[in-house]
Amino acid sequence: MTFKQLGLVEPILRALEDQGYEQPTPIQEQAIPILLRGKDLLGCAQTGTGKTAAFSIPIVQDLYQKPHSKGKRAIKTLVVTPTRELAIQIGENFTAYSKYTKIKNTVIFGGVKQTSQVYALHQGVDVLVATPGRLLDLINQKYISLSNIEHFVLDEADQMLDMGFIHDIKKLLKLLPAKRQSLFFSATMPKAIVELSNQILGNPERVTI
Ligand code: AMP
Repeated sequence: MTFKQLGLVEPILRALEDQGYEQPTPIQEQAIPILLRGKDLLGCAQTGTGKTAAFSIPIVQDLYQKPHSKGKRAIKTLVVTPTRELAIQIGENFTAYSKYTKIKNTVIFGGVKQTSQVYALHQGVDVLVATPGRLLDLINQKYISLSNIEHFVLDEADQMLDMGFIHDIKKLLKLLPAKRQSLFFSATMPKAIVELSNQILGNPERVTI
């Protein structure tokens, strides 16, 4: 199987070539076609499987194929992940796969001053990668609106629960548009995670690696 056979467009194929990716990993082979069809996804996968590319590549393609909206850029994709390190890595993935498009991303996380993050948001981005606390903080301060979100990704859901982010996630869910594509990833699927996924996903396809 090649990336081209998965239905990816030229600017993304070129970016993947630049990355040195020769073929999709198993999770990419399974998840990319599902996501390109606009379906919700429940992914049971660890970091190291190529999971980040599996969700970010089809999102980049969807954003690339949509007609440009006039006026200010709005955040159309929200990725929530538990740690600063993961957030940075995910942002780097989006930057790499969208290098031949006009799609812009930024990353926000706590523990640092918000000034440069607010500035980046003000410039306009299509994709926002965030940790939960800082995200809610900037939403409350009206620096972020979620009303144009089309893709929502909850990454490392089990780690998120272990770190005590469940209330933040529940608050966030209330702010998301009902009509959206949702992706939910967790390395393990205990009962609490399955229940949370049921609150987020609508008739999802399942991928287990
Ligand atoms: P992740 O599971 O998303 O943390 O990705 C693990 C590592 O695999 C990252 O360094 C990616 O850049 C790399 N990677 C992802 N997809 C591919 C691929 N199809 N071929 C080679 N490397 C990849």
